[in-house]
Amino acid sequence: MAAEKQNEKKVTPRSQDFAGWYNDVILRAELADYSPVRGSMVFRPDGFGIWELLRDELDRRIKKTGARNAYFPLFIPESFLKKEAQHVEGFAPEVAVVTHGGGKQLEEPLIVRPTSETIINHMFAQWIHSHRDLPLMVNQWCNVVRWEMRTRLFLRTLEFLWQEGHTAHATREEAERETLTMLEVYRTFVEEFLAIPLYVGRKSAAERFPGAEETYTIEGLMADGRALQCGTSHFLGQNFAKAFEIRFLDETNQLQLVWQTSWGVSTRLLGAIIMVHGDDQGLRLPPAVAPIQAVIVPISRKPDEAEKVRGAARSLRDSLEAAGIRVKIDEREGLTPGFKFNDWEMRGVPVRIEIGPRDVAAGEVVLARRDRLGPEAKQKAALAEVPAQVTAMLAEIQKSLFEQALGARNTNTREFDDFAKFAEQMEGEGGGGMALMFWCGNPECETKIRETTKATCRAIPLNQNGASGKCIVCGEAATERAYFAKAY
Ligand SMILES: [Zn+2]
Repeated sequence: MAAEKQNEKKVTPRSQDFAGWYNDVILRAELADYSPVRGSMVFRPDGFGIWELLRDELDRRIKKTGARNAYFPLFIPESFLKKEAQHVEGFAPEVAVVTHGGGKQLEEPLIVRPTSETIINHMFAQWIHSHRDLPLMVNQWCNVVRWEMRTRLFLRTLEFLWQEGHTAHATREEAERETLTMLEVYRTFVEEFLAIPLYVGRKSAAERFPGAEETYTIEGLMADGRALQCGTSHFLGQNFAKAFEIRFLDETNQLQLVWQTSWGVSTRLLGAIIMVHGDDQGLRLPPAVAPIQAVIVPISRKPDEAEKVRGAARSLRDSLEAAGIRVKIDEREGLTPGFKFNDWEMRGVPVRIEIGPRDVAAGEVVLARRDRLGPEAKQKAALAEVPAQVTAMLAEIQKSLFEQALGARNTNTREFDDFAKFAEQMEGEGGGGMALMFWCGNPECETKIRETTKATCRAIPLNQNGASGKCIVCGEAATERAYFAKAY
């Protein structure tokens, strides 16, 4: 029975089949499941627990910048979307439209928000009158719907969860500063909390948010060599202010249009955590976002031993909880310790604590850390010192997962000055990675890169350090290098 179950829980090795591994990890670790509606997904408690930890910490950081939370409705009048020309062009193909309600056809169809610029700016126009009403900074945590054709759990689904911040300012400079402030909030949050190293920069015109003057991005490189956009911050200029007539009286009593930003990250960050940190055994969670940071596995063969071991395990749990560690005891019956070890490894729990009768007698336990493999992963610890040692170990694991990811990313990032070599790197199985190359900025050269290699411009670094060279495509003079990669 136990052996059968053990087999059932094994995931496809990551090195064999990345996409198969990714789905296996999500389903077997019980993070999410498919819903009966094509392209939408269910967040199971173990997956939603990661999102809650992530959300609470990011919410705290967003509020520190001065933004406050609000909530705007799911339904938006269809006419709102049409008010900003680029915005409607960008979103129309993936919008879900409600035509009937209460058994009747609606006079004006409603769209299900794909993002909330239009409804929020409609309200901003009514709330903003004077320079004293500025800056206005709101954030909302909500779901949005985009009718995607090709979907993948966490990364691209019809409905997903996110936060979207929207701000209005009196001056261009202030709005530009806000855009970059939020970019930096996202960068530090994802690097520190999710242990995912990022490339940061602005998007090319082709990759810009519909309706934005400038889009800035944080980009992660997944373990299979494909990039994932992890968050964006947009400088909207006055595009929406014009469309929704958001005006204010400045200090000299002149009527002015506001300057705006919007910024967001979504549940696709869960996909990034899986694809950056996972290994052949399954998930590896950074301790900061692990719903269970340490799991205690009591080991006993005889009933009289079991009682003693269970008692010791429970008092250990209490002392770990008192130290602020999220801890669980695995008291499931009829499963071998070996099965339980593999199961918790697959679920990505950062620290496992093994305690048996001999350990209880000796006043010690075995600690096993998920960021290492083999004998190196295990060490003994005196019972009284376990809370302090696990606290220190969790901090070390957080750091070591970031360093491992940074090493992998750097190995898989290459500079190119020859188009053929770049194209060859992007090809076939095992191909890909991040490419840093000079690009003249011409959209035609960008299109040629995409059509030849499927790679897109991921980010143009903000600081170019006075770089100059030749465009990898046309050979013309170029003053900027940009990151290109195949992306999710
Ligand atoms: Zn060029």
